[in-house]
Amino acid sequence: MTNPFQQLEADLAERRAAHLYRRRPVVSTPQGPTVVVDGVTLTSFCSNDYLGLAAHPGLVAAAQAGAARWGVGSGASHLVCGHQAAHEDCERKLAAFVGKPAALTLATGYLANLAVITALVGREDAVFADKLNHASLNDACLLSRATFKRYAHNDLDMLERQLADTPARRKLIVADAVFSMDGDTAPLAGLLALAERHDAWLFIDDAHGFGVLGEGRGSMAECGLDSPRIIYMATLGKAAGVAGAFVAAEEIVIDYLVNMARPYIYTTAAPALIAEAVSASVDVIADEAWRRERLQDHIRLLRDRLAAGGCQLMPSATAIQPLEMPSSEAALALSAALRQRGHWVAAIRPPTVPTPRLRITLSAAHDTAAVQQLADDLIALLPTLSSPRSLS
Ligand code: PMP
Repeated sequence: MTNPFQQLEADLAERRAAHLYRRRPVVSTPQGPTVVVDGVTLTSFCSNDYLGLAAHPGLVAAAQAGAARWGVGSGASHLVCGHQAAHEDCERKLAAFVGKPAALTLATGYLANLAVITALVGREDAVFADKLNHASLNDACLLSRATFKRYAHNDLDMLERQLADTPARRKLIVADAVFSMDGDTAPLAGLLALAERHDAWLFIDDAHGFGVLGEGRGSMAECGLDSPRIIYMATLGKAAGVAGAFVAAEEIVIDYLVNMARPYIYTTAAPALIAEAVSASVDVIADEAWRRERLQDHIRLLRDRLAAGGCQLMPSATAIQPLEMPSSEAALALSAALRQRGHWVAAIRPPTVPTPRLRITLSAAHDTAAVQQLADDLIALLPTLSSPRSLS
């Protein structure tokens, strides 16, 4: 009998040979500064739990109380009978927190991006996207069937030319506020100015800014920007420490999404206990500024200590601090060598990113000694990189 999966096996073998094969490490503890991975205790520098809220006792208690009050299942999609008072309250709280008239919560950020872009633009429209946008934004742009233009990373001149040269019924500019694999930020004021000049809408994915920047209110607040043209999206499974995402915008936009966004309409609502945990998280984000201050201290410490040791990180002022590597093989070898010294740092390789890198993420949950130790071990290991095999 022929093997029906021969082609799949060949594809995976090709990935393996190119050092691009991926597997899922099994974590047997809650997320935190230290985790047990495949049975080994490591300091985690790869989660997006930037404020250290993923196992926060107040959030856990809110989820438990939520389960006791609402059960664990929402029962149906939001438009049928799954939209419970906990979702409604959570949406009001999120909208008020980021200073928008209305908000909509969705089960994941991936789904939120699909929902917004496919609902707002179609065949007669055009979407303009930064080359380094998150995969979920790119997938959404493709799925929308709108004319899909990508501009070079943060290149406002190229974007302006594209906006001027592309006839369309509606124009939507789409960008990450903080680029997830680079840690740098979008020129938000410039993007908004172009949206205004070309009568476009601006969709901002603030997955990595919400909770961290703008006193927790996100990247738009950080830059002091507000406009009805801005459709703001942030995920709730990163700094907020829970799960899901929300879109905040004018009432009409949210109403339109409720009626038109297929990825919102045709999926079961997230459990109400998640909404309860998110509401509790917003309170912690608002009240505990010390978490952001601690995170900033760690960012400064890591960059300064590495620079003093001759190691240049990619330019980033956020919790995402990538170190570019000459090859996928070298990225894997350095990640493995760090692991032997007790640090867990993810090697990110194509096709996720154009160039291989270690993606170091910092959290308020880390202590100073852990960040210092990571810097010192990187400085010790990097010189051996010229022969990457010697690292592993
Ligand atoms: N946008 C960005 C910029 C992200 O980094 C991610 C998650 N990696 C998402 C969207 C998707 O969010 P979620 O994980 O909630 O699906």
